[in-house]
Amino acid sequence: MTMKQNTAVNKNKSQILIVDDELSVHKLLTTYLKKQGYLVENCMDSTQVIQKVKTYPPDLILLDLMMPDLDGITLTRRLRNLEFDSYLPIIVLTAKKGIKDMVAALEAGADDYITKPFEFEELVARIKNMLRLKKLQDRLMHKTVELDEANQQISRLNHVLTETNRKLQKKLYDFHSIFELSYRVMGQLESKELIRQALINILGIVPTKSVILLLTNKDDDDLYEVVDYKGVNDQLISDFRIYRHDKLIHYLELIKKAFQINDVSGEFQDVINILKSKKIEVVSPLLRNENIVGLLCLGPNIKEEVYSEDSLETVSILTNMLAVALHNAQMYEHIKELSYTDGMTGLHNYRFFRLRLKEELARARREGGNVSLLIIDVDHFKNYNDTLGHPAGDKVLRKVSDILKKSVRDNDIVARYGGEEFAIILPGASKEGAIALADRIRLKVEQTKFYQEEIQPGGKLTISVGTATFPKDSVSEEELIFFADQALYYAKKTGRNRVAEATEIMEDE
Ligand code: GH3
Ligand code: MG
Ligand code: MG
Repeated sequence: MTMKQNTAVNKNKSQILIVDDELSVHKLLTTYLKKQGYLVENCMDSTQVIQKVKTYPPDLILLDLMMPDLDGITLTRRLRNLEFDSYLPIIVLTAKKGIKDMVAALEAGADDYITKPFEFEELVARIKNMLRLKKLQDRLMHKTVELDEANQQISRLNHVLTETNRKLQKKLYDFHSIFELSYRVMGQLESKELIRQALINILGIVPTKSVILLLTNKDDDDLYEVVDYKGVNDQLISDFRIYRHDKLIHYLELIKKAFQINDVSGEFQDVINILKSKKIEVVSPLLRNENIVGLLCLGPNIKEEVYSEDSLETVSILTNMLAVALHNAQMYEHIKELSYTDGMTGLHNYRFFRLRLKEELARARREGGNVSLLIIDVDHFKNYNDTLGHPAGDKVLRKVSDILKKSVRDNDIVARYGGEEFAIILPGASKEGAIALADRIRLKVEQTKFYQEEIQPGGKLTISVGTATFPKDSVSEEELIFFADQALYYAKKTGRNRVAEATEIMEDE
């Protein structure tokens, strides 16, 4: 414990303690020093010095080493070893001959000495000097304490800063990963591929061993089925399904975010048991307008510990993102289904083709007249694709599409029938007219230069065409398509790069 110096008595006056057993010296000194503006205390009994100093620490001690029953050196050392919150200067008084004592006292911790007899002026000068040094010393001590405190505070702040920084870095990393995921996943419009990529990315971002995604069934909105999973074996999830009336869904409707199943108790315990049997530890809902359209389930933490709040928050964010991206993809797929155009070639699609074929046959039945159909298929296209890659194949399909479009009249309908198959409806065209057009197109394709077509059998990229005509070959759309298809098959069988027509097969058979 440190002791406060007694300055409360008079803040401006320094207090000097005189330790001397000679009454006359005392009196003289006291009077003189008081006149100089000091507060003076006396201690004639050397055994009381320590106690007195401890109780009321003075600003300075004048200690006479020449007291008969006193070991002044030991006392000096003991005084010096006392701990105060400011500096306590000690001036010793010695005899002229007492040089040895004086040196010993300085070594024991005295700050200055003065030999008896002395001039008062000299003593006061030394006292003043000491008190000035004390003031400097005190200020230094004070500053050191302040510095220590500041240092401690800096060290504490530094610790907090390091910790905060670490957390921020982690968050930053998470957000970066989420950002990257959103970039990759949000643009993905094919839902199957989107889900696959999302699950792989979630495994990379969240410290989990496995993920399972359940979505509502297309035909049964109340049934959640597994659509994809990573890090789980097939057996475990083969019978895994959840129904809308399950308590789990009610619970998720309430909390609307990722939760750790260990944190749940009471009435939802049944559901938890099912999840536990599937090694699931976290469930996060995919929401669309308050409606739960799917569940993202996480397996055990790779660190074999519970998931942190931060992790759960990340999972919620990821699930929301996935829900939005999935919604986009499903909308896109829906719109694609509804549309009449094939995205890749810009031609009409199969849906439109069927619709128009039906209309054209109905009109032909009503008004009389022909409708011819061409079905076109690229020869050895698998070879081209496999050798030069899908993108090169796509280019060919677009180029063939252009040739088809340019070869027909305005009211003819060109459609992409399937992968590398096309169909053309020719309202009013006779069998002969259809065959003639088909052959013109076949020749045009043969004569068109395609990128690296030399790799094809025969060294050229070619097509085969099958034709059929209503009402000559058929009475219905299905029949018309069937015969055109058969004719195409026949054209392939009989050498490719040629046109075949429905009656040809019949004659052949
Ligand atoms: P064939 O002469 O008997 O018609 O032989 P083929 O190789 O063309 O026949 P097959 O039907 O076996 O192969 C068709 C290939 O067309 C398979 C597939 O790789 C490719 N394909 C289908 N749709 C597309 C597409 O949209 N783009 C590309 N690049 N290739 C497609
Ligand atoms: Mg084909
Ligand atoms: Mg083909």
